[in-house]
Amino acid sequence: MEILEQVALAPYTTFRIGGPARWFIEAASEDDLAQAVTFAREKSAPLFVLGGGSNLLVSDKGFSGVVVRVANRGIREESNGEYGVFSAAAGEDWDQFVSAVVEKDYAGVECMAGIPGTVGGTPVQNVGAYGQEVSSTIHSVRALDRTTLQMVDFPAAKCQFGYRRSIFNSTGRDRYIVTEVGYRLRYHGAPHLAYPDLAAAYADNTEPPTLKQVSEKVRSIRQQKGMLLVDGDPDCLSAGSFFKNPVISESHLADISARVAKEAHRAGQVEVGPIPHFAADPGSVKLLAGWLIEQAGFPKGFALGAAGVSSRHTLAIVNRGDATAKEILALRDEIRRRVLAQFGICLEQEPVYLAQ
Ligand SMILES: Cc1cc2nc3c(=O)[nH]c(=O)nc-3n(C[C@H](O)[C@H](O)[C@H](O)COP(=O)(O)OP(=O)(O)OC[C@H]3O[C@@H](n4cnc5c(N)ncnc54)[C@H](O)[C@@H]3O)c2cc1C
Repeated sequence: MEILEQVALAPYTTFRIGGPARWFIEAASEDDLAQAVTFAREKSAPLFVLGGGSNLLVSDKGFSGVVVRVANRGIREESNGEYGVFSAAAGEDWDQFVSAVVEKDYAGVECMAGIPGTVGGTPVQNVGAYGQEVSSTIHSVRALDRTTLQMVDFPAAKCQFGYRRSIFNSTGRDRYIVTEVGYRLRYHGAPHLAYPDLAAAYADNTEPPTLKQVSEKVRSIRQQKGMLLVDGDPDCLSAGSFFKNPVISESHLADISARVAKEAHRAGQVEVGPIPHFAADPGSVKLLAGWLIEQAGFPKGFALGAAGVSSRHTLAIVNRGDATAKEILALRDEIRRRVLAQFGICLEQEPVYLAQ
């Protein structure tokens, strides 16, 4: 296991931003990961676990500790005819994993095609898209406990999954390194068409679409929105959605709607109309952060220095070429300030910020 020093982190992130790591280790096995943890302890240095760097903003000064990149590979498959359990090493590429299981006609992850990053990154924020979340098909997660250096197996029920949340980014943050994720997928299962745009695409079909057709459709919708990594596409230097969709109570929504209407009336402006939302947990609604951002004065393509809002999706903050982390954070703060002032909602950042 090689221990490198002063390694630039920008190329390891989809933002292409960030200074160097004091130490950098590529871990190809669980043993390598344990050794990296021991090395960080010996140096009394903090340890950061890197996957595909697609949900990450690294500070301009970099990180003064140890960055360990999870790079183990391999997929095991067990099937009973009706279901298959695919145990994929954390370092496997997520989108390639989706393609491989869809190709074998297993259902359960087809709507999450085209999401960048590693398999190990997926349980961390309970990745989801187009009406599907990984929590609905994760069977188990294997992880290294950094405090005991023992391996732990988490059945899905112990992962504390919620919206963009799990034990791995909340109560167990900085404690576990995911080394393998088991997905239980249905053989010959029907594709999940809960998301309106996706369902509409097949509304006139007499035959239901195949899993492969749906995953390809998702990739093409993503590409239209600049949410698929395509070389040379200027909207791709991002971490995807920069903010979570806020979940608020129904009564809070009613208060905000009344306040916004009153303020528009007082200022002699056209009312913005009903605030778009979806049902969430009972009594709660999920708002569209992208809509709030646009209403607060940040249209697609908005620029502040070298940081900008994607020209195809208001929820993505992009590096317009040579942006610094400082510029990205300045735009984030400006967006948050104006959304808070207009709607009384504090937007929560989705990507992880790694600094000193
Ligand atoms: C264009 C684009 C589109 C995107 N679309 C979506 C989307 O539709 N839905 C969605 O949910 N996300 C989306 N994302 C965000 C991102 O792709 C996912 O969150 C992805 O799962 C992150 O995985 P990663 O391996 O890149 O993690 P990284 O970015 O490397 O790390 C993110 C966090 O996870 C931790 N982590 C990573 N691997 C491990 C591990 N093995 N063990 C423990 N902790 C680990 C890191 O320490 C860090 O805290 C998008 C990003 C981009 C750039």
